[in-house]
Amino acid sequence: MKDYIIIGAGQSSLAIAYHLSKQNANYLIVDANTETGAPWLKRWNSLKLFTPSEFNSLPGMDFPHEKGYYANKYEVADYLKAYVSKFNIPIKFNQKITSLKKEKDVFILKSDTKTFETKNVIIATGPFHKPFTPACHTKISKEIIQIHSEHYKSPDQLQEGATLVVGAGDSGVQILNEISQTNSAVYFSGNTNIVSLPQEFLGKTLWWWFSKTGFLTAHKYSWIGKKLSKSGQPVIGTDVKTLFKKQNITCVGRTLDADGETMIFEKQKINDIKNIVWATGFKPNFNWIEGIELDDNHYPKNYRGVSDIEGLYFLGLPWLYTRGSATLGGVKKDAEYLHNYMSKK
Ligand SMILES: Cc1cc2nc3c(=O)[nH]c(=O)nc-3n(C[C@H](O)[C@H](O)[C@H](O)COP(=O)(O)OP(=O)(O)OC[C@H]3O[C@@H](n4cnc5c(N)ncnc54)[C@H](O)[C@@H]3O)c2cc1C
Repeated sequence: MKDYIIIGAGQSSLAIAYHLSKQNANYLIVDANTETGAPWLKRWNSLKLFTPSEFNSLPGMDFPHEKGYYANKYEVADYLKAYVSKFNIPIKFNQKITSLKKEKDVFILKSDTKTFETKNVIIATGPFHKPFTPACHTKISKEIIQIHSEHYKSPDQLQEGATLVVGAGDSGVQILNEISQTNSAVYFSGNTNIVSLPQEFLGKTLWWWFSKTGFLTAHKYSWIGKKLSKSGQPVIGTDVKTLFKKQNITCVGRTLDADGETMIFEKQKINDIKNIVWATGFKPNFNWIEGIELDDNHYPKNYRGVSDIEGLYFLGLPWLYTRGSATLGGVKKDAEYLHNYMSKK
């Protein structure tokens, strides 16, 4: 029987594990993946952080690159691996927890191969669970390659011919940008009125400005935090206005439907698409946890990670407390708060 089990071994998990290790707590991390940093390594090959190095540190260990540097995914995974080894963090991989319930005062966690028991559980399974793809994807011809951004690695996965990229978030525009550099025809489906912000402004990084203006620290219960959490996220580091004007990119409006090889958009129908990258986001999945109440967005109800079930906690959810809650550098404040809370119990 453990005192604490953390589900998930990403950055949110490691940030709270740091505090538990420091107090010599009897704890364990379990994770469905096979290695530290796996969620980063699975993302597309050319991915670069939108946060500069000085905003990427977990508690107790600086992110090891110079100020103003935007690390790639391999460097993030290396940092997380070094963190685990520096603080001797105990992790059991290949353990996807498929059910969690509380019986009397004990939490019982089950994976396909093992049962774990613990007095407290911290769910740090990340902000992104089930890839979401619009329903019309089932009507699309098998001749067209369809990839969700979760599985997109590089243009090498695509067949010759035009590609459609759907989705106007950071992932969508970065992938659109990369594919457009191959010079083949690219269609973009999504909102073209998105706000994009440059990574540097007046000699300072965007993240520096965010930190000075309170954008990262405004909490979701404050007036400004309420407004920010409900407004759309700006795209960071991609100049979308210039991108959308590129000669080989055609913006086609929202995707409405599909019929075999024909894609139907707000503005037109198109028949020559050979590949589709769906950068259409993710849906949360907490249905394996017995007894938790979800909010309107299907995330567990909690206050700063503390749920209504005694001993059950969350970390790393989008806007758990602030805009920074689901970022490398932002999770440490939430982890510290949660650790203080749990220590007083
Ligand atoms: C494309 C992209 C770019 C990003 N860029 C930045 C950036 O530049 N800067 C920044 O600060 N943030 C960035 N983020 C946001 C955030 O930092 C990452 O999403 C980060 O991976 C979240 O860390 P996490 O520990 O909360 O979750 P994850 O890294 O997703 O880790 C969750 C872990 O939980 C495990 N897990 C899930 N379910 C179960 C289960 N049932 N049982 C056992 N294990 C389970 C998974 O295997 C995984 O290892 C980016 C996110 C994306 C998607």
